[in-house]
Amino acid sequence: MDIRTLFLAQTGALAAIATMLWVARSAADERNGLKTWTWAVACQALAYLLLAHLKWWPMPLSTLLGNALGALSVALFFLAIRQFLGMPIASRRLALMVCVVSGAAAASAILEQMARANSPASMPSLVPTIVNGFVYGWLQLLNALALWRKPKPELRTVQHIVALLYLGMGLLLPVRAAFILLTELQAGQFQLSEDWSEAIYLFGFIYIIATNLGFLQMCKLRAEAEVRLQAMTDGLTELPNRRALDEAMAGALGTAQRQRQPFALLMLDLDFFKSINDRFGHHTGDRVLATFARQLRAGLRAQDQAFRYGGEEFVALLPDTQAAGAMVLAERLRSQVACAGDASQPAISASFGVAIWQPGDSAEAIFQRADRALYQAKAAGRDRVVLA
Ligand code: GH3
Ligand code: MG
Ligand code: MG
Repeated sequence: MDIRTLFLAQTGALAAIATMLWVARSAADERNGLKTWTWAVACQALAYLLLAHLKWWPMPLSTLLGNALGALSVALFFLAIRQFLGMPIASRRLALMVCVVSGAAAASAILEQMARANSPASMPSLVPTIVNGFVYGWLQLLNALALWRKPKPELRTVQHIVALLYLGMGLLLPVRAAFILLTELQAGQFQLSEDWSEAIYLFGFIYIIATNLGFLQMCKLRAEAEVRLQAMTDGLTELPNRRALDEAMAGALGTAQRQRQPFALLMLDLDFFKSINDRFGHHTGDRVLATFARQLRAGLRAQDQAFRYGGEEFVALLPDTQAAGAMVLAERLRSQVACAGDASQPAISASFGVAIWQPGDSAEAIFQRADRALYQAKAAGRDRVVLA
């Protein structure tokens, strides 16, 4: 296999990837590290172009620049992964790392040039291969570790695959460097067999394509999860919305049916809320709703879930709860709302309808019972809890 051709093929692939990433960039990519990743890919493309030693480049300069750009791209990939994972890296630490990595690469390239001033142009550069093998290998292992730890469930598979690719490269680079170093010391000449060299370069090529696709996939899955969360969240109160309630309800019914374990549904409606808007304005009304939502969430147990059903109506799902427990919780919530002493906001109260799951219940049936109980609470004078 001709290394120069391979390097040129890598340049072409990387340049195409960088161009596509740049053209398709969006505002969301400011936060996920894809912008830094694109710069890293561009630097790597240029590095391979220089290291392919085309005849119109003066050799020492192309080796030096190629190695420095290669080092910069490794540092940028390292940074992009940390940006994606939300692991902040102090700019001074990063600058130091870039200096160390590119310093090592440049110094080794200079040494190489001095030692092999008369060698043919296609000779692989051994000193940079050895030095970079250890430095880059260490960075790839750090990347693998960062990606492996605590991925979000939706990202686990792809993040672990990318981590394994980094682990592979993180082991391969220092092992190759150590092998070259040992054979150099012993025999005074480079003895890594052609087959091994080709296999390693081929893995490098696959690794480039796979890590790029993997990182892009990670960004895509993250964006999808964010959009999904937004679609399930109410913008004003930040509570899960009605769509989320429908999903949670289906889950709760399934669990109750399987385990024969009842759950409770609370339906809450703020009393005379229209008059709050009329007296204090909609802006204050909005603030009251947001504050109420916070109180509601804080008043529930860890396993319970609160939702904004719509307008000034809310729902709470209480898993594994019987009538007595649901009434105690609802009454506690009611009195908390009634005496929540925030002087900056108008006083409010809420009415509660409570329904308990019965075998064979559909979502519609249990909602109807809770709604009827809520209506009774309103009719009986509001600011009270009624069990269906
Ligand atoms: P009741 O005790 O019978 O529930 O009386 P109510 O005034 O609370 O009920 P009604 O259904 O007549 O009015 C509900 C009010 O809630 C009217 C609507 O403007 C207000 N509302 C609904 N959603 C929002 C919102 O997002 N922000 C604000 N500020 N008001 C809202
Ligand atoms: Mg209402
Ligand atoms: Mg109301």
